[in-house]
Amino acid sequence: LFLDEFLAEGAEIPGTPAQAHHLGTVLRRAAGDAVAVFNPRDGEFAAQIVALRKDRCVFALGARLRAPRDEPDLRLMVAALKRDALDWVVEKATELGAGVIQPVFTRRTVVDRVNGERLAAIARGAAEQCERLSVPEIRPALPLHAALDAWDGAPLLVAAERRGAMPVGRAAAGLSLPCGWLVGPEGGFDGAELDDATRRPFVTAVALGPRILRAETAAVAGLAVLQALAGD
Ligand code: SAM
Repeated sequence: LFLDEFLAEGAEIPGTPAQAHHLGTVLRRAAGDAVAVFNPRDGEFAAQIVALRKDRCVFALGARLRAPRDEPDLRLMVAALKRDALDWVVEKATELGAGVIQPVFTRRTVVDRVNGERLAAIARGAAEQCERLSVPEIRPALPLHAALDAWDGAPLLVAAERRGAMPVGRAAAGLSLPCGWLVGPEGGFDGAELDDATRRPFVTAVALGPRILRAETAAVAGLAVLQALAGD
C-alpha cells in the first residue's frame, strides 16, 4: 500500500479512506492482518492493520523490507487518448517502469480534458500491484509543442508509423536512461506536427513494424522495448 507519510519502524500511520474501503470491502482483510506499505522516500515496511473501518484504517509498521532506490528515468509522452485507453496506458506504463507520464494534446486528439487525479489514482494502484516503490508522476496535460519546448533534451523516440522510420529496437539499443517515448492519438500525428517534433535535435522517429497499432498498443510496446534495452 502506498502511504505518502513518513514511514519508520514502530510508527502507527493512517491510510486513506479509499485504502480502508479496498482492504475491508474488496480484499476482505481485518484488523490483525499483515500488509506491506511503501513510498519512494522511505522504502517498504512490513505492517499490521491495527484498525479497519469502512473509511478509516491504521497500520502499525514493523521492519523495513526494502530500502528506497532511485527509479530509472523512463518517460512516456502520450496523446490524450479516450478515457479507457489512457487509463489502460497509465496502468501498463506504471508496470513497465515509467517514472513520468506526460499527456499531450495534438492536432488530432479528440479529448480536450485529462483528469490527472484519476490517472494518479490508477498509477498508485498499479504501483501497489506490481510492487514498485515509486508511483509515476502524472504531469498536467500540455499542448505537444509546449511539452517539447519544456523537454530537457534527453533522447525522445517518437512512434511514427508509415514513415520508413528506423526500427525502435535499433534506436533504443544505443540509448541509456533518461529517455522518453512519444505516441500519437487514435488518428495519428498530423504531418506538420511530426515534422516540427523531429526537427528538434533530441527527437528521433522510429517504427514498431509495418502494422498500424492502436495508440495504446504502441505506447506499451515501445515502453517495453525501451525498458528492456535502455532501462533496468
Ligand atoms: N490513423 C493513423 C493511420 O492510419 O496512419 C494511425 C494512428 S495509430 C492508430 C496511433 C499512434 O500509434 C500513432 O500516432 C503512432 O504514434 C503509433 N503507432 C501505431 N502504429 C505504429 C507503428 N507501426 N510504428 C510506430 N508507431 C505506431
